Amino acid sequence: MSMEARGVYFDGLTSRRHEVDLVLGDMLALVGPDGRRLAIWPYADIRALASPPDLLRLTREGGPPLARLELRDAGLIDAVRRRSVRIAETQAEERGGARRVVLWSFAAVLSLALFAVFGVPALAERVTPLLPWSVDQRMGAAADAQIRLILPTRGGSFGCGEGAEEAPGRAALDTLVRRLSDAAALPVPIEVTAVRSGIPNAIALPGGRIYLFDGLIREAENADEIAGVLAHEIAHVAHRDGARRTLQAGGTSFLLGFVLGDVTGGGAAVFVARTLIDASYSRDAETAADAYAVDLMRRIGGDPRGLGTLLTRLTEEETEEDAKDETKGEPDARGRRSALDYLASHPATAERRAAIDAAAGRKPATPLLDDAAFAALKTICGKAAPADDE
Ligand SMILES: [Zn+2]
Repeated sequence: MSMEARGVYFDGLTSRRHEVDLVLGDMLALVGPDGRRLAIWPYADIRALASPPDLLRLTREGGPPLARLELRDAGLIDAVRRRSVRIAETQAEERGGARRVVLWSFAAVLSLALFAVFGVPALAERVTPLLPWSVDQRMGAAADAQIRLILPTRGGSFGCGEGAEEAPGRAALDTLVRRLSDAAALPVPIEVTAVRSGIPNAIALPGGRIYLFDGLIREAENADEIAGVLAHEIAHVAHRDGARRTLQAGGTSFLLGFVLGDVTGGGAAVFVARTLIDASYSRDAETAADAYAVDLMRRIGGDPRGLGTLLTRLTEEETEEDAKDETKGEPDARGRRSALDYLASHPATAERRAAIDAAAGRKPATPLLDDAAFAALKTICGKAAPADDE
């Protein structure tokens, strides 16, 4: 019995598309225009693949993995389906995957309604802890790609620590990062990049990536100061401040995009990168991050005071520069004053330092890195001092 309607067959071995007639005998025969049988499928081996609504995609179990048959004609689909019970079963399995997407869409619509009721900041507060960490990681990956494009660095690679001269610095940084991340035990891995830029700052992306700028490394006088900054940035990852900030600024469309994974480096990624670069977290968020950092530093036997000492040094230097140069009032995304995380935001620094010192406890006898390792860390981006005119 030959059917009028045709299907499209891909043999899974070549990219060629074959218009085929279907012959529904004891087995399903796919016949090419020249009358040649291209494939014969036993009905028991036929299973459904994920298909759009107007199309049924079938494959043969045990055949080439990419071989598939596409049917559009409703009568033909019905005829094939009547002969193969496996199609209905496998279609139900495929629908499980589709159902998860529908569920997430539902969550996104619900979040839209909640945005309207509660307003964006309050909702971001409620929604962020409920999101899977993979959302943070997707945001971080998208932002990472963008930041590598838009952030000016001093020649050479974006990240330091790769060449022979810089490798010992990388090893020293890894030692600090390992101790901190082991103690933090977050559900996402912490990944620190020393960035070849003179900006004296650090930034945490959602999902565990942290940038530590050479400009900040060069300001540090001991390893515990750098570890303190890393601990503070790890706190932003742990508290999911970057994800929350992005949601607050971007609203539902970004939530939707990141939940459904529809981020391909387009507008959403640019947006996340800019949001994070301009991020000024609330004073509460910074205070909470400092408290976390003090606790984490105490747990690894470091000196939690290092963070406050370094913040104070940065603030004092900025104030001196301001006095020298009146035109530097406006923070500039490219300039030295662009404190990415507002790590050393002026009015709060003294207060923050006092809080850190009060919680710090006894000063440990030895620094986290010995002198040689700290000297190596200081030159992770090369021995030459960065130019000041970036
Ligand atoms: Zn911070």
